[in-house]
Amino acid sequence: MTVPNQVQRRVVASQCPLDCPDSCSLDVTLEHGRVVALEGNERNPTTAGFICDKVRAFPRYLEHETRLRHPMIRTGAKGAGEFRQASWDEALERIVAELTTARESAGGESILPLSYGGSNGSLTQDTADLALFRRLGASHLLRTVCAAPTGHAAQGLYGRMPGVAYADYEAAELIVVWGANSQASGIHLVPHIKRARARGTKLVVVDPRRTKLARQADLHLAPRPGTDLPLALAVARWLFENGRADVAFLTEHAAEVELFRERAEPWSLVRAAAECGLAPTDIEAFARTYADASPAVVRCGWGLERNRNGCAAVASVLALPAVAGKFGLRGGGYTLSNGAAFELGAAVDEQPSTTRMINMNQVGRILDDPPSPPIRVLFVYNNNPLATLPDQERLRRGLAREELFTVVFDQVHTDTVDYADVVLPATTFLEHAELRAGYGSYALQASEPVIAPVGEARPNYAVFGELVRKLGLERPGDDFEPAALTARILAGAAPDVRAAVERDGIAFPTFGTSPVQFVDVRPRTRDGKVHLVPDRLEREAAGGFYAYRSDPATDAHPLALISPATKTTISSTFGQFFEGPMPLALHPDDAAARGIADGDRVRAYNELGELVTIAKLDADLRPGVALFPKGVWCKQTENGRTSNALVPDSLSDVGGGACFNDARIEVEKLR
Ligand code: SF4
Repeated sequence: MTVPNQVQRRVVASQCPLDCPDSCSLDVTLEHGRVVALEGNERNPTTAGFICDKVRAFPRYLEHETRLRHPMIRTGAKGAGEFRQASWDEALERIVAELTTARESAGGESILPLSYGGSNGSLTQDTADLALFRRLGASHLLRTVCAAPTGHAAQGLYGRMPGVAYADYEAAELIVVWGANSQASGIHLVPHIKRARARGTKLVVVDPRRTKLARQADLHLAPRPGTDLPLALAVARWLFENGRADVAFLTEHAAEVELFRERAEPWSLVRAAAECGLAPTDIEAFARTYADASPAVVRCGWGLERNRNGCAAVASVLALPAVAGKFGLRGGGYTLSNGAAFELGAAVDEQPSTTRMINMNQVGRILDDPPSPPIRVLFVYNNNPLATLPDQERLRRGLAREELFTVVFDQVHTDTVDYADVVLPATTFLEHAELRAGYGSYALQASEPVIAPVGEARPNYAVFGELVRKLGLERPGDDFEPAALTARILAGAAPDVRAAVERDGIAFPTFGTSPVQFVDVRPRTRDGKVHLVPDRLEREAAGGFYAYRSDPATDAHPLALISPATKTTISSTFGQFFEGPMPLALHPDDAAARGIADGDRVRAYNELGELVTIAKLDADLRPGVALFPKGVWCKQTENGRTSNALVPDSLSDVGGGACFNDARIEVEKLR
């Protein structure tokens, strides 16, 4: 008997665990077992029934020609991307042999896991993988490519206090969007800003580009990349100097107030304006507007962390609501990451790492100029380092070393896959179970697989669990199945949260979904105060916290290159859909000074490498700034290089963060 088509069409609930703050709840439409549509639903109220175009197009991702369907073993030269299909048994046995040899001959630290959480939730990162690499005694990776400086600042000042919910932006009299492009990432804030604007809320945007949001703002400040720190300190100094600091609030709720005031003191409006490339009157207008408005909220993004001053820049922005006394009202305070809204347990019970630490932003130099012991086995997962990490040329040289054995475990055939010795196909969030807490919206969601794995793809927890067993590293009580991992993570949660996830698949924090800072949630520092100059950050920062490091531009490389997120990718996820060539954007004045017209073939270069592409003139950039988007794959450019070929592997002041926006370049027209 033929089953009617309508019987084979059904809608199932899921969630989006990709590296985006909003953590949408999803309705997935299946026809005959295939995903034909993804839409947002209302289960997570932040989603409000809509999702971004990136994930709406996920059916294409699932079945795209780049999707990895089988394990593969290298047959050609490293980098050539030539492989033969292999069975899982053969691939895993090869990996087991290489891990065993490396560990026995050079010690566990000759093994390096290289991962980031870009497309995964809590079940597919730091579960069986953590158990495997800890038990092997592998080198410890510092996951610093994103959010490390902001994390240090948020932890140091407020102990990661939960932030203002998107919906409460409608209660604000002033919204400041600083270093964030909500139209590209965290899109669910946008409707709330629109509604707030409709009822008269003022908007200030701080961004070196005139983004769509900046065009709508009452005031747009476009500082030079890397100068958010002097800008914020100048605002703080103005507040102190003009009697607009909330002394009563600071006395009761803040520590190191005088020290912070001293750190802001050198930054007069005139001096900060000269450093930032702004008018002193604009900085003063901003400071006065901020002081006058109540409630006032700051959406602090991640754009201002990606430079040499990154941690102090974020901290100085987060200090402003304390100095100006903006807490205690709905619509007042700040939002950064709400990732610590839920207390959760560890998925696996492993001792803290005691092995050497390797900063992922400097993996290129570690592979290219090996320390002792050198890395013999590199295990890449949840990550496309060749497209996403700094100093791309050096990383490429390191990956090409014949003596390096590289495993890449991914969903799609990325740039990095071309350098693998063994390739393993990974499932996506629609093919495995997942648990994920949002870091923008206040929701913790669990989801089950909605389709069978594509090809022979397997989930991370299954593959790493299998490697633990094959290597004889099992321990009593090991259970890497999703139900057991979920139970252990939820064991750390409040009983109501645990019960809601188990019953409904979604839970909200015990304080609700729209906390008022300093009313419903408070700093989670040791004494419950805001620490304006946290001890730990003071110790880690060379020259003291808030010390400013000047612009690295030189006469030979005068242009600042930035690589912000776009509406089409999440880091490099979905990068395969870019339709090239991806242009390098230049301000018309900078282009004219170099004889470059729109569409000309150009070479952007510095001492680290070069990028060949076409030019696009963009008057929305500030002069002196060039732009090449984040997330482009090397395969998609004329010379196989992206902006990261021009990015140094230097680190931020605190937190070891990547300094993507410290790339300084020159651009020339090619014939
Ligand atoms: S990427 Fe962000 S906006 Fe898009 S579906 Fe996922 S959580 Fe929602």
